[in-house]
Amino acid sequence: MKTKYTREELRHLVLQQAQGPEIAGITGYLEIRLYEYLTAKIKERQDRLKYLVSDHNGLVSYWAHPDLDYRGLTPGCHNCLEGKITHIRHSTKCTQSCMFCYYFGQKMPPMAKNQYEVSNATKLFTLEELKIVFDKQGSSVDAIGWLYKEPLMEMDKMKPVMQYLAKLGHFQYLYTNGVFATPENLVKLHHWGLNEIRFNLSATQFSEKVIKNLAAAGRLFEWVVIEIPMYEQVYDDFIDNKDAILETGLTHMNLAELQLNVNTWNHYDGDPVILYRHRFGNLSPVTSREFVYDIIELAEKEMWPVVINDCSNDTKYYRDLVPDPPFPGVTTYEPKMGVPSETFYWIIDNILEDEVEIF
Ligand code: SF4
Repeated sequence: MKTKYTREELRHLVLQQAQGPEIAGITGYLEIRLYEYLTAKIKERQDRLKYLVSDHNGLVSYWAHPDLDYRGLTPGCHNCLEGKITHIRHSTKCTQSCMFCYYFGQKMPPMAKNQYEVSNATKLFTLEELKIVFDKQGSSVDAIGWLYKEPLMEMDKMKPVMQYLAKLGHFQYLYTNGVFATPENLVKLHHWGLNEIRFNLSATQFSEKVIKNLAAAGRLFEWVVIEIPMYEQVYDDFIDNKDAILETGLTHMNLAELQLNVNTWNHYDGDPVILYRHRFGNLSPVTSREFVYDIIELAEKEMWPVVINDCSNDTKYYRDLVPDPPFPGVTTYEPKMGVPSETFYWIIDNILEDEVEIF
């Protein structure tokens, strides 16, 4: 087996879609080189930010205005990172069809009125069974997230569970596309015991109506978050609506590195969109995290009164390092596909030296 390769030889091997241990070693080497290159670029940008906080060996980073009383991640995020959460899914309906949706194009069977899913447990629970699960195992989690499709499409189903969990003292947070987060519905959720609400503004291309709903949430909840996946269109929409968003009274921005999978990876055109696989699984465009830092740099220049979470693949790697997954298991988003060959050509052409020693 050779140990040194020229660019041309590597291109040829990728083009041939060569098989076997040699190519596995080469693509593994190329992926690590790309990861190191991207990490170094982000680190350079991080080092220039005065109010960026980095924790856990740099895997978790967020920017916070220095005068805020609370300069940290939300309790929902904090518990998620420390493995002290579980999720409830109770609806398979949604009003939108987002091109970045992890479930894009998948037909979901409806869930019956008396069925709930906890995290990724394969078993469905009735309301009474769910209460027993939380009575017995609830002490192993602090926070409970309501997610999956659009939870507010079936609010009646949430009410008894949310009230029960609030009585047990659990912190609850919910993701919504904001369409049904009307002032009336927000008052109900607040009353039932919801603590933190996260709006995905990109699901409606930052609709004016949803930004108004965000402002209504800002008047009610202690923790009001926008959570958006970062790519060029979302960045542009965010900038166009920046002032209106900052006036809503939100407390946090979770800017997520866009995660792609077999349903969504080919929805993005561009120049071209090069994907990389994070060292431990997630597949993302190489540019996604750059947009996060474009926003954070602007926040520091204009001193926005918020906390901005760089919710990167590194952060999710840290999150997934839990010794014993909390009951009944954590939700993971494996891409279920490999890296396209364009990525390897891009690495060879843009990062590598003329000759590299691989083995
Ligand atoms: S709003 Fe959320 S669940 Fe609905 S399509 Fe968009 S990403 Fe998927």
